[in-house]
Amino acid sequence: MAGTTNAFEMAQRQFDHVAELLKLDPQVREILRWPLREFSFRIPVKMDDGTIRMFQGFRVQHNDARGPNKGGIRFHPAETIDTVRALATWMTWKCAVVDIPLGGGKGGVIVDPATLSTGEKERLVRGWVDIMVRNVGPRQDVPAPDVGTTGQMMGWMMDEYSKLKGEYTPGFITGKPLGGGGSEGRTEATGFGVIYTVREAMKHLKLDPKKCSAAIQGFGNVAQYAAIGFIEILGGKVVCVSCWDRIDKTSYTFYKADGIDPRYLMSITDQYGTIDKEKAKAAGYKIEDGGEWIKKDVDVLIPAALEGQINADTAPLIRPSVKLIAEGANGPTTPEADTIIQSRGIFQVPDFLCNAGGVTVSYFEAVQNDMNFYWTKEEVHDKLDTKMTQAFGAVLDMSLKEKVNMRDAAYMVAIARVVKAMELRGWI
Ligand code: GLU
Repeated sequence: MAGTTNAFEMAQRQFDHVAELLKLDPQVREILRWPLREFSFRIPVKMDDGTIRMFQGFRVQHNDARGPNKGGIRFHPAETIDTVRALATWMTWKCAVVDIPLGGGKGGVIVDPATLSTGEKERLVRGWVDIMVRNVGPRQDVPAPDVGTTGQMMGWMMDEYSKLKGEYTPGFITGKPLGGGGSEGRTEATGFGVIYTVREAMKHLKLDPKKCSAAIQGFGNVAQYAAIGFIEILGGKVVCVSCWDRIDKTSYTFYKADGIDPRYLMSITDQYGTIDKEKAKAAGYKIEDGGEWIKKDVDVLIPAALEGQINADTAPLIRPSVKLIAEGANGPTTPEADTIIQSRGIFQVPDFLCNAGGVTVSYFEAVQNDMNFYWTKEEVHDKLDTKMTQAFGAVLDMSLKEKVNMRDAAYMVAIARVVKAMELRGWI
């Protein structure tokens, strides 16, 4: 978690604010402001040098009224129970806002994956499954990748779960590699989903995407495909991305005034998301401080890294040219920054709407696993586009009808759906 903001306090503040607007029953609020179940455990892993190291793991299941809990597992050195709680809570709202029949969950391990060998990573993720096996599964809780975890890890975890259960169970986990139970279109799903919402927001704002430029924070899976989508789907220009440099232990912005080439940058990025500075420099990129991305004279900002990046310190740096912020990351904007951005009239596509493409295609993956019949990439992209467009439309309608900002409107749509499921199940 960047800065001093506690992500879970932020998630609760956002929820409390909308619960107040909705005049939600205090007992219902009490159910929804906290996760229903939390697991905190230690995973013993035999390291390559023969020693045993303990890793702290978490899984939080926020709410499963609408269906099995769903959400990724993060490997991050700064992971805490509160970041996982926040992310699990946002998953509940995310699944509800795109109207997929799943609840909210999230997992984490306190570790920097770049410090582990391939074998150590495999033993760590298998250990995670060994401990959680009784409380996860296709009808209970379905994990997926997130920051620091990969499709290959999902493949190992699916194998471990299937072995423990004695039957092939691909629907236990999503984000699996293609050919190993994965879905076409899952890799680019979150980034493309961001771009479908950007396209809809531009229609509403009457902006011509071909005349628009964007600055992107991050260069992980979401940022990479958001950059590709902004250029290839919308026909716009991306002037920069940023990345964490794991060797220098700092972040950099990679800027090119006439537009970056994300596919080239991907070809010089290592598996942990660090771009090769020398090669980038040789290709004409200006290497700047990691905080520079937010100061660009662009139409669109796409934070697609970690939580808390647009905060009371950085929000005032946003240039007057910015008309739209599309939140590819989970929780990138603190409530203080929200106030600044909204007072300036900048249109926001809030995180759990904007980045819902990943979990949407995860849902498609689980559906295909269940029926053991697989769709083409075009079918997946079309279905994703339909879901994202519908979700954006429902949130925009709510925002116009209730005269609230897009974040509050997204909460209103999501909370109403979760509350309805709780009512129908007789919980309240
Ligand atoms: N980790 C992604 C997210 O935050 C995807 C979750 C999933 O596919 O279950 O939305």
